[in-house]
Amino acid sequence: MKDMIQSVIITQEAYNGMFRYVIEFANPNRPYRFWREVIGWLVGTVDEETITVIKAIPMTSGSSIFVEISDYTIIPKIAEEAEKLNTVIVGWFHSHPSFGFFLSSVDIRTQRYQQSLFDDAIALVCDPTKISTIELGIHGYQVYMEHIRGREYRELDISVDMKELYPEKLSGLLAEVGILTSYSDVIAYEDLAELYALEGISPPHLAMTKIGELLASEKNALPNLKAEYVILQPLQRKKEGYIQIKISNSGEGIAFVVDVALPPTYDYKLISMYPRRIIDQLNYESTVIETFKIKPTKEGEIFLPSLSIYYRTIDQSKYQVHVQGKTVKVVK
Ligand SMILES: [Zn+2]
Repeated sequence: MKDMIQSVIITQEAYNGMFRYVIEFANPNRPYRFWREVIGWLVGTVDEETITVIKAIPMTSGSSIFVEISDYTIIPKIAEEAEKLNTVIVGWFHSHPSFGFFLSSVDIRTQRYQQSLFDDAIALVCDPTKISTIELGIHGYQVYMEHIRGREYRELDISVDMKELYPEKLSGLLAEVGILTSYSDVIAYEDLAELYALEGISPPHLAMTKIGELLASEKNALPNLKAEYVILQPLQRKKEGYIQIKISNSGEGIAFVVDVALPPTYDYKLISMYPRRIIDQLNYESTVIETFKIKPTKEGEIFLPSLSIYYRTIDQSKYQVHVQGKTVKVVK
């Protein structure tokens, strides 16, 4: 049987190529609402379970939240380009500027088509805003071609051939085009609200409190979040049902919950979009509830995994709140 791709090595040139293109359309000097996703092709080599990405070839930019490869007539040209470098087409990349790492339903469709054309094709997702000393800013995926696993895609190991620390590398790429500010300097939660609203997935609370309108006590106080699973009605095997994650704030300070994601597992099929990206303002004694639709794959019991949910405080510090895993009954 053919090996499944497990790992991806990205050359310096390919890494630079991807991020130069990503940065062009989503950078700290460009108003957030004008940020755009970009998409392109990857060429490289395949050696058993490992793909080496040698070069990234930019293709097009889309709306701020939506980009799709629609022109496949270009494939012979890309293949020709690949051949010149003694490589083959190994997949595609696109950016999720500030949305993080996952494949959307459109991405899954695109990737399924890619894998139908090229067995080993990978999908790389780039988000420069998430780069840190431990986060290189690119995640890689392949989809399952058969719907037997209860999940749609799997993540690949990614490594990049470079000596610099990732944040330094990013500053270098930004500096090449004269940008000396960093992403964290410009992403304020007001901007996030606007962008998330554009995205139309889970509408934000538009009436965000402006920092200037806060009482001094609110500015200095810390939130105190608790999060837990809530089951509305008994779940039934192979039937769609709902589970909720309830997050409440008992602290005096304000918290901004940025994203709530329920990962797919073997115990259930996740029907809702993964992850749900919301931004919700939690004042004192307020609660938000995120609802996910799932379909249990077995009877008896299923396990809902423990999770971490990120939130920010008024001064933009990032924290996380833990959701304890939970065993839930599934009836016939
Ligand atoms: Zn995407």
